[in-house]
Amino acid sequence: MNKQTILNEMKTVFGTFNRATFVINGTEIEINKWNKQQLREHLSQWGEKAISSFKFERMGMIDVNQPIYLCFFKNDYMITNALESVIHVLQVEDVYSFTGLIESYKYVEPEVPEVPDRSVRFEYSYDFNRCSWMLTMGICMLGGCDTEFVYFENKADAIEKAVQFTNEGKEVIKVSACEDCHQEHMDWSEAY
Ligand SMILES: [Zn+2]
Repeated sequence: MNKQTILNEMKTVFGTFNRATFVINGTEIEINKWNKQQLREHLSQWGEKAISSFKFERMGMIDVNQPIYLCFFKNDYMITNALESVIHVLQVEDVYSFTGLIESYKYVEPEVPEVPDRSVRFEYSYDFNRCSWMLTMGICMLGGCDTEFVYFENKADAIEKAVQFTNEGKEVIKVSACEDCHQEHMDWSEAY
């Protein structure tokens, strides 16, 4: 399969859906199509550094008036306007094998945060500073801060572990106050 055929197939999928997982040259890659607002929220949380630190070739500036793609693959991620740059990163000697995992094709409402699976007690998320998926294992009761994490190579492993921990009866550890909140509390007390 050549690059253009793969691009056409991906674009067809993203005409309808905004999340899909593909396997290109044996590497699984999850792609989320974003709007301007989602990119803005991302930048406000993680900073411009999260984009400028990319080391990938052929990556241009992000044009917010074009489709924006957040792509997770292996232990890395990429934000780009061009699906082509994703294929470029994954190419192995120009042999392109491509499979779309149809069951992963979804439309996720961008304005509504995803409803977590209530039967699973652990939340998974992506840490853009560490380029790693993680589970939150501890919560600070004072400020609601996440305090303890376990890291994973990919999203599937994080979800699998979340289900396993839940089935084993594990729970998120609740600490009365994390260090930051404790310090803030102390500063506050001293001031009055
Ligand atoms: Zn806290």
